Amino acid sequence: MLELKSCLSSAACLECKGCCCFASESWLPQLLEHEKKALKIIRVHSREDDNGMLTCEFLNKDDHHCRIYEQRPFECRLYPFLLVSRRDKIIDLAAHLACPFVVSAAEGMLFKAYVGYLRNFFNDPIVRNMLKAEYGTFHSYPEEELMVVQSNILQPGAGEAGQ
Ligand code: SF4
Ligand code: SF4
Repeated sequence: MLELKSCLSSAACLECKGCCCFASESWLPQLLEHEKKALKIIRVHSREDDNGMLTCEFLNKDDHHCRIYEQRPFECRLYPFLLVSRRDKIIDLAAHLACPFVVSAAEGMLFKAYVGYLRNFFNDPIVRNMLKAEYGTFHSYPEEELMVVQSNILQPGAGEAGQ
């Protein structure tokens, strides 16, 4: 699994409970190839709750904990940041404005420091090589939900991330 520091405490997320439930199947976390092998599944499934909302099959609804937390997909580790698919397979790094942390913290020093950490993370050749084969995994998102923090963070065949 790709290790990534989180920008948020578990306590803050458990208070929010905004993650791990989805309006449609298409927003379930996508798995990278090595995650499929590690989890021995080819995709994440959903369950429908009493309100018709879809929840991730790995969400423990009693305490809102992830049952595979140590092995959770990279997409879950990265959130509330997103790798956003653009034309010509260019990938931008964006913060998701649906997360209240992003809205409240975006101008703060900690947020900016974390964006710097992510830029360094995506410049690591090991990370870049691993993600190069996974470009088909990344979504596009409604533009109004995005705060792009780094354009062209990944490009197919490129040796270095955008600066
Ligand atoms: S929406 Fe943001 S604050 Fe809420 S649980 Fe998800 S990552 Fe945490
Ligand atoms: S894998 Fe875990 S962190 Fe990711 S959506 Fe499912 S329950 Fe949430």
